[in-house]
Amino acid sequence: MMLEVKNLMVFYENALALNDFSFHVLEGEFVSVLGPNSAGKTTMMNSISGLLEEMRVREARRGGVRITVLGEILYKGDNILGVKPKNRVKRGIVLARERHPIFRESDVVENLKIAGYLHGSGSVRQDIHSVFELFPTLERFKNRKAGFLSGGEQQMLMIGMVLTARPHLLLLDEPLLGLSPMLQRNLVEAMKHINHKGITQLVTEQFARPLLPFIDRGYILENGMHTLSGTGQELMDNPEVKSAYFGI
Ligand code: ATP
Repeated sequence: MMLEVKNLMVFYENALALNDFSFHVLEGEFVSVLGPNSAGKTTMMNSISGLLEEMRVREARRGGVRITVLGEILYKGDNILGVKPKNRVKRGIVLARERHPIFRESDVVENLKIAGYLHGSGSVRQDIHSVFELFPTLERFKNRKAGFLSGGEQQMLMIGMVLTARPHLLLLDEPLLGLSPMLQRNLVEAMKHINHKGITQLVTEQFARPLLPFIDRGYILENGMHTLSGTGQELMDNPEVKSAYFGI
């Protein structure tokens, strides 16, 4: 078992953001958590990456929002709730967030090199080669400043940068947001390739349509609560999912 989340509950003050959410991801799987705005997707990703714990401690220190986390997060069998985000990265849990920082004044290759060095990669050249294999568009623009790339290209660069950390479990938080249907398709195909390389993936999304045909399994999250789960095909065939996500 790669990841097992057990009865996760997160409160911001008295507001319940995640309500007893349990799910798991097997090694090599491509799993998605789908849900509308403010369903709790980012809270869940931040719990797994450790950013929520960091936020909790910071807020407690300065007397800000009181964050309460209950439940267990097991990664390869170990409870990681108290592990620092950077140590989770070292253990292979890597989060790609929306609006992940890129260096706008540096070109594509420089950005990938910086990411590789920051992650202590032993062979940055090999990393860059793999990223270009995955995203041929990036190779075409390899000497372009990142700030001049389109939104979709920046998203690819961001994922490429994250991959230089050599994740075992790649967490993608709403990677399709703001992309055209064509770019969404390209990105989902790239995710499938990443998965074929043996990297386990957990992806959150509001858009079910481009993802469902590709994922192994999915969970639907609404108002912090898990409502449905199944294989991509089962979810696609589910009448509730059809009406909520496909407008049928
Ligand atoms: P979106 O798609 O809009 O990003 P989401 O599914 O990622 O939504 P979360 O961002 O996890 O949802 O938010 C879940 C709930 O927790 C929301 O009601 C949100 O307002 C609340 N919330 C999130 N972060 C905080 C915070 N730092 N302080 C207080 N409430 C928060």
